[in-house]
Amino acid sequence: MMISFIDIHTHKHERQTNVLSIINLSQPVSDIPENIFFSSGWHPWYIENIPLLTIESSLRKIIPQRNLIAIGECGLDKSSTTQWQKQTDVFSIHLHLAKEYNKPLIIHCVKAWSDLLYLFKKENFKGKIILHGFNGNDQIVDKFLKFNTYFSFGKLLLNPESKLPCVLKNIPAERLFLETDEADYSISDIYLRTSAILDIPVDNLCEMIKNNFFELTGYGLVE
Ligand SMILES: [Zn+2]
Repeated sequence: MMISFIDIHTHKHERQTNVLSIINLSQPVSDIPENIFFSSGWHPWYIENIPLLTIESSLRKIIPQRNLIAIGECGLDKSSTTQWQKQTDVFSIHLHLAKEYNKPLIIHCVKAWSDLLYLFKKENFKGKIILHGFNGNDQIVDKFLKFNTYFSFGKLLLNPESKLPCVLKNIPAERLFLETDEADYSISDIYLRTSAILDIPVDNLCEMIKNNFFELTGYGLVE
């Protein structure tokens, strides 16, 4: 199969030709569809009544799977009603497991950039980080570039009022991913918009993101 587009974070399960999707399976996960690449973790919205031990053991079961690309989405969300201490405890479990298994983390972060940076510093985290649905500014990009961070952009790029296109232009080529998340857009729409913003041909953008995927996972995609 020829892969053109990589969707680094989606909740949709349908397969499309030309697209490699990293399907997010939110915990708790009962079974994993065959032959997919996936990420899996505990989203901060859905952890309130789950004991920490359950969270850790469920992750330990799933992380060794060969097709798990990243641990998450997990993260911190200040707009969520989930108790803050619980959020940081659960996020720390993901972070420690990412270290232990040497797997990338895929992160949901809302209004908690400095808290996230604080934890990465405190843990001296050297692993790979994907900030999914990135909507931060240039200063936040700079701070996260001190870590091994990738920035994934999605449907917000299609919003004509958004300032994100200016932020996107300053992301180093080797640090970029694109995603659909839960949006009704196709990943090709996001690629086309990104290629217009960056003023580069779509083919070059596809190549760029394939290279980034190889750096992230060690998986090369055959033409
Ligand atoms: Zn998501």
